[in-house]
Amino acid sequence: MHGLMMDMPLLVSSLIRHADRWHGDTEIVSKTVEGGMHRYAYSEAHKRARRLAKALGALGAGMHDRVATLAWNGYRHFEIYYAVAGSGAVIHTINPRLFPEQIAYIANHAEDKFVFFDITFAPLIEKLVPQLKTVKGYVAMTGRAHMPKEKIPGLLCYEELVEAQDDDYEWPSFDDRTGACLCYTSGTTGNPRGVLLQHRTTIIHAYAASLPDVFCLSAREVVLPVVPMFHVNAWALPYCCPLAGAKMVLPGQHLDGESLYQLFESEEVTLSAGVPTVWLGLLNYMKQEKLRFSTLKRVVIGGSACPPAMIRILQEDYGLEVRHAWGMTEMSPLGTFAVLKAKHAKIDKEARYAIQAKQGFPIFGVDMKIVDQDGSELPRDGKAFGDLMVRGPWIISGYFKGEGGDPLRDGWFPTGDVVTIDPEGYMQITDRSKDVIKSGGEWISSIELENIAVAHPAIAEAAAIGVRHPQWDERPIIVAVKKPGGKVSKEELLRFFEGKVAKWWMPDDVVFVAELPHTATGKLSKLSLRQQFKDYKLSSAA
Ligand code: AMP
Repeated sequence: MHGLMMDMPLLVSSLIRHADRWHGDTEIVSKTVEGGMHRYAYSEAHKRARRLAKALGALGAGMHDRVATLAWNGYRHFEIYYAVAGSGAVIHTINPRLFPEQIAYIANHAEDKFVFFDITFAPLIEKLVPQLKTVKGYVAMTGRAHMPKEKIPGLLCYEELVEAQDDDYEWPSFDDRTGACLCYTSGTTGNPRGVLLQHRTTIIHAYAASLPDVFCLSAREVVLPVVPMFHVNAWALPYCCPLAGAKMVLPGQHLDGESLYQLFESEEVTLSAGVPTVWLGLLNYMKQEKLRFSTLKRVVIGGSACPPAMIRILQEDYGLEVRHAWGMTEMSPLGTFAVLKAKHAKIDKEARYAIQAKQGFPIFGVDMKIVDQDGSELPRDGKAFGDLMVRGPWIISGYFKGEGGDPLRDGWFPTGDVVTIDPEGYMQITDRSKDVIKSGGEWISSIELENIAVAHPAIAEAAAIGVRHPQWDERPIIVAVKKPGGKVSKEELLRFFEGKVAKWWMPDDVVFVAELPHTATGKLSKLSLRQQFKDYKLSSAA
């Protein structure tokens, strides 16, 4: 017997419609690529999204057609999110930091029909045009006055497209399992693979993401997503903010410490989210200028492990609450958040930090377990570590076009992360399975070594990688960047590890560099580092 409730599909368009009807005057403020600020409210964003949806129809972008974006966080990108998915097409957010060959590969693989781009990317688009086989039109996301001069065939102007239409448009209704958004994840081996989010899963995920123990969104928050809208939809914030009626502040391409700080202050931002490297830049700037936050109260940090030292500084010196989070593109992306439980109210500071350094417990909707190499489940004792498997309604069932075959094992998705789960349910990542350092048949956690290195007052950023060793197979070395003016010798840094890890985990060497390589999503690029240090000779191996 079916229940007797209204049968309404869960569509992305309902989010912007809701924000317009009930939070119509709540602002979206953007730092534009043309220079200056743009401000309007949800009601105007909704109007323009509907006009754009009409324009897309007129251009011939129909149901299921892929419409790509190469764009920063800004109000036009936000409108495209809703116009494309709302009208039944699929928005394909491309990471412009990828190599041009990778962009060409994924745009061709996705069979993108239109490409919308911020004018900063016009030179890149000009270079890409000859390689993009399925694209029928390019749209510069600007007004007539700033149209790029590059040679891009049949180039269209975003503002002209929007202005040519009225907003007399009803969002269509369709099966909510329809694909809404396509994000490619850069596999470290093989080609990038597409993750196709559904309307239904996007809405359920946005509900869950807004919960108090997750982003804790409300109509009283002012949210600045530093995480780009081209990296798994800025962790779903462009969906959660309209759902909750929160004000949005979109920083464009200005992600340096000074620009972000000014925006946090001038727009009275209360909540932000991004990868650890972003906070590094911000903290350096704020320390140098002796600044404080006036309104910011919570930051969500994830995408790669947030060093405990960073959590401590943000909380103790800047009065913020840090929420360490874990997820993946294949999970829409949110999986776990490290927040405290009621029983932790009276634990001491160090015990609290130990919890916050972990990646956290699952959000309702995500189930997880750890397994050994034979697939047998391991205990949740905080000691046994194994492969993390997940399942849930916003987790991938297969990659776009079946790339890579069936990714599931007995209905679970293997994350590629090696983790422990403690008896209280907190998951902690030991490593990405390919980054773990294998020494004498045992595993050393690169994340743990990195966390110790960056706790040294003179170290800004550090990577731990395994280098070849004739006897032990691999031994760990630390590749580190010093803080401006930071003074520490190799021997001093090695001594800093003493007593903090088992003897055989002690790094064999330290190499100081000016800069560490990062991936297109701001994570340490262990792959390029391992490549760079592949012939490194350890003195212990002599
Ligand atoms: P992506 O799909 O690009 O977001 O990458 C997902 C991967 O990033 C995960 O499988 C983890 O290896 C890593 N990751 C994400 N968040 C964290 C975190 N808080 N700590 C450590 N690794 C993380």
